Amino acid sequence: MDVKTPLYKIFGIGSIYAKRLERLEIFTIEDLIYHFPFRYDDYSKVSKIAQTSLGEKVTLSGEVWQIKNVYTRFGKVLTRAILNDGSAVLELIWFNQPYLTKSISSGDTLHVAGKVGKFGSKLSLVAPDWEKWDRSLHTGRLVPVYPETAGLSSKWLRNQISKFLPQALEKVEEFLPDQIKNSMISESEALNKIHFPQNWDDIKKAKIRLGFDELFLIQLATQRARFLWSKKTLIKPWKIDEGKLNSFIHSLPFKLTNSQQKVIKEIMADLKNTSPMNRLLQGEVGSGKTVMATITMYLSYLNGFQSLFMAPTEILAWQHYDTVKKLLEPLGIKVGIYTGSKKRVQGTVDNVIIGTHALLSDKLAIPDVGLVIIDEQHRFGVEQRTLLRSKGAAPHFLTMTATPIPRTVALTLYGDLDLSIIDELPSERIKVKTFLVPELKRRDSYKFISTKVMEGDQVYIITPLIELSETQASVKAAKVEFERLQKIFPKLNLGLLHGRMKAKEKEKVLEEFRNNAIQILVATSVVEVGMDIPNATIMVIEGAEKFGLAQLHQLRGRVGRGKKQSYCLLYTSEASNEESRRLKYLETTFDGLKLAELDLKIRGSGTIFSTAQHGRFDLRIARLSDIEAIEKAKQSATQILRIDPSLDKYPLLKARLDELAKEVMPD
Ligand code: ADP
Ligand code: MG
Repeated sequence: MDVKTPLYKIFGIGSIYAKRLERLEIFTIEDLIYHFPFRYDDYSKVSKIAQTSLGEKVTLSGEVWQIKNVYTRFGKVLTRAILNDGSAVLELIWFNQPYLTKSISSGDTLHVAGKVGKFGSKLSLVAPDWEKWDRSLHTGRLVPVYPETAGLSSKWLRNQISKFLPQALEKVEEFLPDQIKNSMISESEALNKIHFPQNWDDIKKAKIRLGFDELFLIQLATQRARFLWSKKTLIKPWKIDEGKLNSFIHSLPFKLTNSQQKVIKEIMADLKNTSPMNRLLQGEVGSGKTVMATITMYLSYLNGFQSLFMAPTEILAWQHYDTVKKLLEPLGIKVGIYTGSKKRVQGTVDNVIIGTHALLSDKLAIPDVGLVIIDEQHRFGVEQRTLLRSKGAAPHFLTMTATPIPRTVALTLYGDLDLSIIDELPSERIKVKTFLVPELKRRDSYKFISTKVMEGDQVYIITPLIELSETQASVKAAKVEFERLQKIFPKLNLGLLHGRMKAKEKEKVLEEFRNNAIQILVATSVVEVGMDIPNATIMVIEGAEKFGLAQLHQLRGRVGRGKKQSYCLLYTSEASNEESRRLKYLETTFDGLKLAELDLKIRGSGTIFSTAQHGRFDLRIARLSDIEAIEKAKQSATQILRIDPSLDKYPLLKARLDELAKEVMPD
């Protein structure tokens, strides 16, 4: 068996399940065994029915006395069974699984795990996990619970993983050098323990090892990139024509904030260096990063170089194109655009080329690239940067992100970059008033929206995130919501925007929104991080509980860009107290970095980055709040690179790193 074989080719999985697995980004056996549980149900306590009490989590074994389907008045099916283990009897209840009566018959010996509850007046287990054979996969142990998707349960995943894991583990070779591995358990042992722990200590050991691997490999990749980068041939320092620069800055329609001025200084210092700039510019949504990019591109032009400006999506590329053109064309600078669907470039003639990652294509000949700028950088990895670098001899590099990245995180993920931060918004900005709207107030809030639109304002409505990536399900939900809202606002023009629309359609909708021909834009959350439409003053977010605080803050940043008071209305379908408390932070906190740190504390690292992101930097086990682990990984990486920066002495480690590098290549 080859762990890289696509799953649809594997007997017993088939194309239907392979498709579902793809939604979880699982394509091979290898992906499957690296699909880690996010929690465990402790069903290791095996009890007798007579000894159980309400609320206990237990595994019970007994004989099924009777099993039957009961149809309720509302068309629902209950499957009810009686389990007898000699000490007493207890009722088992499942909802909407009528086929269970085909798998379980009276007389069967059954192992069931769940929390003892009450159904009516009798003790019962509601929707318990169950199995017939005595091999303790779903019951009688610490049962792993995995990230699931429609039609793919943890139970199914457990079955498959248990089937393939033993063989797959035979192929896992230890890639950590001895002096790094030290007292940690081996990778194969860790993989085994994460899926099949005997006890909580096993889980702890497995997480220490697997978490270390994640952080260590990132550190190694970034430190190595930095090292190789610093070895690049020296370049001629750029000249900064202060006179021209200042008159350009004065010609802007606004005064730069202090932060922006500080950043320009940092960038200029880099450009005057003999080694290429490699800088990450972090600044909240609306903090004015685009103009930083524009100024830098102007300096590139003055030094006789072309500039590439890469945006994560087509829409943003067009928006940047419009902005940059307005500012630079009057100075005689030629601005072109290059995206998947439109190629309006003269290649060698354009001074500035703006585009999507189509810019990476070999077909685009750009001889004199002196500067590469990437917007919303977290979607690109080290390797893309390397690839883009290869376009010019050694271009200067500026990457920009609105993602508030806590310092520890920045050091971990972007150890190869210098950091600049814009930490203030243009002064005339007014705080976006934010409310977590209770369901009871929904109608009132719609009235409020109508009133505001009558006054000329515009509205974004973000539809719930159904799955992690923008799948059919999310698009469908957006369409349903769009139709519902059309009925609520019959007199207004609504537009729909989602990731599965063609670039042309998207452009059209956005253009209409920009011109206020559309007043309410209904959109999925993955759409367009950097849209800049100052007349939009209300941001409505449905299903807010699905997002991290930092993400919500980013979405909120779409409004409050003009001079009018803006509003952010959050709705949530499942408002537990805890959840409400979390979301309420947004009502009082307007600092993206603080919110990101709160996320880190409350929900772990997974939510920091946009949901569209995946690949190497999505940490599954390691926590970016674990500064000790980060420090250890960092030191280990330094230690190895000091011995052998080529990594030739550590072929297995090198292979692992190369493999990860491949994953972050664009598709
Ligand atoms: P982001 O950092 O999110 O990319 P943008 O570059 O899109 O932000 O800027 C948001 C808006 O703020 C734009 O309309 C831009 O023209 C404006 N802007 C940028 N800098 C300033 C400033 N110093 N004063 C006032 N407005 C500014
Ligand atoms: Mg932007």
